[in-house]
Amino acid sequence: MKKQKLSVIIPCYNEEKSIEPLYKAFKRCFSVLSYNIELIFIDDGSSDKTIVELKKLLKKQDFEIEVLHFSRNFGKEAAMYAGLERATGDYVGIIDADLQQKPELLVEMVQVLEKKEEYDCVCCYQERRIEDKTMTYLKKKFYALINKISEVELVDGASDFRVFRRYVVESILSLKEANRFSKGIFSWVGFNTYYMPYTPESRLYGKSSFGIKKLFLYAISGIISFSVAPLRIATFGGLLVSLLCFLYLVVVIIQKIFFTIDVPGYPTLIVTVLLIGSLILFCLGIIGEYIARIYMETKKRPLYITKEELSNKKKS
Ligand code: UDP
Ligand code: MG
Repeated sequence: MKKQKLSVIIPCYNEEKSIEPLYKAFKRCFSVLSYNIELIFIDDGSSDKTIVELKKLLKKQDFEIEVLHFSRNFGKEAAMYAGLERATGDYVGIIDADLQQKPELLVEMVQVLEKKEEYDCVCCYQERRIEDKTMTYLKKKFYALINKISEVELVDGASDFRVFRRYVVESILSLKEANRFSKGIFSWVGFNTYYMPYTPESRLYGKSSFGIKKLFLYAISGIISFSVAPLRIATFGGLLVSLLCFLYLVVVIIQKIFFTIDVPGYPTLIVTVLLIGSLILFCLGIIGEYIARIYMETKKRPLYITKEELSNKKKS
């Protein structure tokens, strides 16, 4: 029988110090698996020596290794997509390069799929977040909101640290959108996911690329990719404001005609004008966010550009 294959996708951005220890960890843990292993490293336009470290790995022959070198930083989403496109394994896993996600867990995830036929994908989720309380709170709120207003169901703390069966990868790749919010895509394609709790290690080298601003924009992009509910704010907000305006109009007319009370002019006027003006701008902003994404989608630009594609596979 043909030996099965596990592909591992590793997006790397400024991870020069982690590459070697990560490779050693792979060597240590993958020995228990009787699979052919394919490692796909993506250097997402790092400004440090990540590519030099990756090229060193190509001299080794423990695993099949592919190295993709992006022409600039296109983001983790693009890197994961490029990896999924190239993965040829029966099982395909994604793991961060920074050693926060232990490769031992990747092995455990594969073993879950081996044992439990009813599952198509395994996903590690953080049972307990290691970040500060505000961040944990904000993330919790984000998950509650997106689950409420979108068609996808996201598990709080679910990471991109996953293993898929081949057909799941095919279905993920069939979603061609340029604005990729993978957590949503993984959930949107459906299938049976096994959620495995894990606690990420702290970062040994370098620093996280996901600061609060990037995470905030990522959250907005997630909501816009999977929900049209924000667009309805304009409809319902508009309806509500017109109703309130109408009620106020009735009050003003009654005051004027029946009680001959002088209707206060300037403050009411300025507050109303400013309020309605800002509401209109707010709604235009939301519409703008959607239009911007339609614009980017229609350009059909590639998700990434590769500078080099290298491999240690012997050309036959
Ligand atoms: N990463 C990437 N491109 C980017 C940012 C990050 O490929 O633009 C990679 C990074 O090298 C790491 C993984 O994505 O392997 C997760 O990034 P990071 O550790 O910065 O995120 P965090 O663990 O803090 O969520
Ligand atoms: Mg990390």
